[in-house]
Amino acid sequence: MPRPLRALINCSALQHNLAVIHKHVHKTRIMAVVKANAYGHGLLRTAQALNSVDGFAVLELEAAIQLREAGFNQSILLLEGFFSTDEIDVINQYRLSTVIHCQDQLSMLLAHKETGKPDIYLKINTGMNRLGFRPEEGISAQNQLKQWRPDANITLMTHFASADDSLETSQVNQQLGSFALLQANQENGTCQTMANSAAILRYPGTHADWVRPGILLYGASPIADKTGVEPGLQPAMTLSSQVIAVQHLAPSDRLGYGGVFVADRPMRIGVVAAGYADGYPRHAPTGTPVLVNSQRTRLVGRVSMDMLTIDLSGMGEAGVGSPVTLWGEGLPVEEVARSAQTISYELLTALSPRVQTVSAAL
Ligand SMILES: *Cc1c(COP(=O)(O)O)cnc(C)c1O
Repeated sequence: MPRPLRALINCSALQHNLAVIHKHVHKTRIMAVVKANAYGHGLLRTAQALNSVDGFAVLELEAAIQLREAGFNQSILLLEGFFSTDEIDVINQYRLSTVIHCQDQLSMLLAHKETGKPDIYLKINTGMNRLGFRPEEGISAQNQLKQWRPDANITLMTHFASADDSLETSQVNQQLGSFALLQANQENGTCQTMANSAAILRYPGTHADWVRPGILLYGASPIADKTGVEPGLQPAMTLSSQVIAVQHLAPSDRLGYGGVFVADRPMRIGVVAAGYADGYPRHAPTGTPVLVNSQRTRLVGRVSMDMLTIDLSGMGEAGVGSPVTLWGEGLPVEEVARSAQTISYELLTALSPRVQTVSAAL
């Protein structure tokens, strides 16, 4: 039998979550964000499950080509655009859409003999201060693009810094105000896209022409201290393993690296095949929830590279071969993330390539 650690991907949960998003955004077009191997869920499998969306967004040219070659005919957007001139030919060849976020990219494009009809997402920095043209530079970039290719399709794009933060609404409003400077300058029909998952849930006024959900599709909440359960999402990934050994500790026996965990009574410990080299967070402390035989117990001691240890005291029959859920169905990834002082996004996207992902109906 192979090592029992698996990421089970529930494709009907992906579809269910897409339907939840549709309810929030009505007829707005959906650009499914499938960067980082679809947040760890597998690019092609996820795209297949979400085939009814209007577009996909990725980072790497290779991922975009993979989608196109697999037969996906929707818009495929490169979220950071291109990095060299030769990539522009590939973008044309595969009919990809590209972000233009800086002067270097704009110059490379304007100097290029385009063949296809360019589909450009002009990224505007409205206050996140990461990528994009300032609004006034954006207007000039847009004018240059229009002169270069009057038939180019240009979508104005921005990204919110704090749409997930329920205590901080002023920054979203400030960013919206800044984006409005550009909107005022538009002919009718210029498309716009602003909303990530958090804005889809919390700011209906930002839905515009395209929304760009990532985390919602995978069934986790973008909002701190909330889980996907409340907006009616289903976890698409269940990280599942088994107990591969059992140890009996006497009071004052120490457990694992550093001996940081010390038994204060007789304890039964399950050793689980999952460690930080698989993407389970090393910083998860004693007490982090884990399911064994669908019952809640806790992580104890330090997470090591390939294994972690859980408390089986009082867990009845649980022993070697018992199924363990690290997160997913029955245990929201947000809870594990919170315990490890991180966010669900990091846990999902850090899933190691050595973990087999398998499609599974749960
Ligand atoms: C990753 C990303 C998204 C998706 O963010 P979620 O919070 O997962 O919805 C949307 N837009 C851009 C530009 C991104 O980079």
